[in-house]
Amino acid sequence: MFNKTGVATKSMVEQKLPSKQRREKGPYAIFECFQEIPCNPCSTACKSNAVKAFKNINDIPEINYDNCTGCGLCVSACPGLACFIIDETYSDKEVMLKMPYEFLPLPEVASTIDALDREGNAVGKAKVLKVQDNKNLDHTNVITISVPKEIFLDVRSIGLGRG
Ligand code: SF4
Ligand code: SF4
Repeated sequence: MFNKTGVATKSMVEQKLPSKQRREKGPYAIFECFQEIPCNPCSTACKSNAVKAFKNINDIPEINYDNCTGCGLCVSACPGLACFIIDETYSDKEVMLKMPYEFLPLPEVASTIDALDREGNAVGKAKVLKVQDNKNLDHTNVITISVPKEIFLDVRSIGLGRG
């Protein structure tokens, strides 16, 4: 499926997750970056030494989760829109997701909108917690949402106007 559509399967994503113990500690980054490409802004943007040193510009990035703070600098820097922040400790029923968002208009903070999967299908509802407009930094805008725990591994975008 991935080779034909470029859409990662759930098992591919699960393999990128940190340990259960790390997931229970607070926010962490996940890089849904699966192919060797000449790219490294995730590494150069990270101030916490959490992206393992590249031996080659084509390396697939790996995260040292002992160092990752979930700061999100990598999310706005990644040109492939492949970096996300996940906080499974956000609340009993919801997970917080920080994700790149390239569309305009930007969503309204506190609005409820469609939560979309990697193929653009609505899989539930998301609440918009924060909107970072990064156009002055020449970086991708970042939105922070909360979604029900059951769907957080599926949700990777939002749809406006259908909330
Ligand atoms: S979330 Fe912050 S600390 Fe973690 S990999 Fe990204 S830039 Fe580094
Ligand atoms: S910046 Fe994004 S696309 Fe480039 S190597 Fe890092 S995770 Fe992959």
